[in-house]
Amino acid sequence: ELSGKVALVTGSTSGIGLAMAKNFARLGAQVVINGLGDEAALEAARKDIASVSAKPVHYEGANMLDPDAIQAMIRTTEEKFGALDILVNNAGIQHTDRVEDFPRDRWDAIIAINLSSAFHASAAALPGMKERDFGRIINVASVHGLVGSVEKSAYVAAKHGIIGLTKVTALENATANITCNALCPGWVRTPLVEAQIDALAAREGLDTAEAARKLLSSKEPSLRFTAPEELADAAAFLCSPAANNMTGTTLTMDGGWSAQ
Ligand code: NAD
Repeated sequence: ELSGKVALVTGSTSGIGLAMAKNFARLGAQVVINGLGDEAALEAARKDIASVSAKPVHYEGANMLDPDAIQAMIRTTEEKFGALDILVNNAGIQHTDRVEDFPRDRWDAIIAINLSSAFHASAAALPGMKERDFGRIINVASVHGLVGSVEKSAYVAAKHGIIGLTKVTALENATANITCNALCPGWVRTPLVEAQIDALAAREGLDTAEAARKLLSSKEPSLRFTAPEELADAAAFLCSPAANNMTGTTLTMDGGWSAQ
């Protein structure tokens, strides 16, 4: 039950972020969505959320590469809705290459979007959370915040980094009613992973279903994808009273990937 709460999810025009925004809306929160995408994608996201909530969803187009825009997005949210109670740092991108081949601009973009944007958003949101004595910050990390995989140097570095940021944010606010936790999913079938399935299919001459099975069997003992809706429920749990004393930790939903 989140009525009266204001929730902002970065990168919520697609995938995991969209499922989280929808679930927060279903639970009664005022939701602010953010992300890239054309008018049609945005309209589809709005419609999806409108199917579970009558409250109009607000969109902020801040690019996660731009710290000033991130700060402005938080300020606008606070001015428009009186508070920011729940911040989910979710926006993320992927690029795969070996270290020696990794394009510099992809390294910089992944570190900026997958790690630094969470720092900028949290820094902007914390003063208001402290003032109101309530805050829930959820950082969408990954199993790659816990273990490595070849050809994902920037992503693995950013995700290990965001778990570090999660711990420090939790410690600095431990006596305020502000928690900060990270979610660590394994494979989730979103556009971010669909691109990796397609690449594997093309490389090995497989159809999409075969490539998806191969991707899973290489890493995830459960042989199934984590659903965006399962992550959305986990995010809601982190905002529920049951998680009031849970901070600075990780919730791993990886089908056993990191248990190996
Ligand atoms: P997705 O591609 O479906 O969604 C990514 C979202 O981020 C989109 O809304 C996109 O518009 C937004 N975004 C990208 N660049 C942006 C920018 N510069 N400024 C603002 N928004 C931007 O991907 P997803 O799988 O839903 O990923 C969401 C998060 O989950 C990411 O942090 C990702 O690393 C993490 N994650 C995904 C998986 C997976 O298997 N899909 C696994 C573990 C963690």
